[in-house]
Amino acid sequence: MHEPGQLPRVEAQFRLRVGNRTLEATLNLPAEPVSVEELLPALYAFADAYLEAVRIQARESGLEISCRPGCGACCAQLVPLSEAEALRLARLVQQMPAPRRDQILGRFRLLRQKLEDAGLWERLRDTEALPDLEVRRRIGIEYFSLGVPCPFLENQSCSIYPDRPMRCREYFVTSPAVHCADPSPETVKVLPLPVKFSEILYCFGDGRGFENTRWVPLSHLFDWLERNETRQPVLLPAVEMFRNFLVQIAPPRQPAA
Ligand code: SF4
Repeated sequence: MHEPGQLPRVEAQFRLRVGNRTLEATLNLPAEPVSVEELLPALYAFADAYLEAVRIQARESGLEISCRPGCGACCAQLVPLSEAEALRLARLVQQMPAPRRDQILGRFRLLRQKLEDAGLWERLRDTEALPDLEVRRRIGIEYFSLGVPCPFLENQSCSIYPDRPMRCREYFVTSPAVHCADPSPETVKVLPLPVKFSEILYCFGDGRGFENTRWVPLSHLFDWLERNETRQPVLLPAVEMFRNFLVQIAPPRQPAA
């Protein structure tokens, strides 16, 4: 039974192997069909539980994560969002009280100006034209070298922490934090993950995981929204969509030929 005025919910229980551990959890999902954007809070909760299990295992094997509250050294990086996350973050900003919203939008404008001055704005506008991993890596280095913080970074902390994108959730540095201000592949080591939820989301716009990779730089959030406002989201029952997401983590085994 659900309370009057509340939308009906269903519970989804799952059990998943993470290395030598079994992760068991119950998620409370809407009973109604949902868009990927609406399922994101549940996917974030699931990813956080999974990533915590990975962190514990890393610690047990002697790897220490150097990321700490109050360290935002990595928050000047190019952050790729799935389209559902771009929609959700744009809505989050639009629903902020006016002074706060204006402050954040002002930071987005400043970031755009810096990217335009550096010749990076246009190059990042059409991410489908950037299929080459090496090109993306080089653009990422150029972007970071500008030293412009994410519009959501405040006092070296993420001001939207519960809503931060998947890419930010799964970034764990294992090398000394002192190297993060001037990172290079030799000095900054990142915890390798058995699964990258962010990359699943880039192909999950259809709620099934069959789409081509589509991502939006966080810096281009509002520019992208202006150009895609009329897109209709795919709606699926939440349990079915969540199951589709899990299948991307552990694709079903093919029967032996
Ligand atoms: S969203 Fe938050 S965690 Fe991610 S880059 Fe911005 S400030 Fe950092």
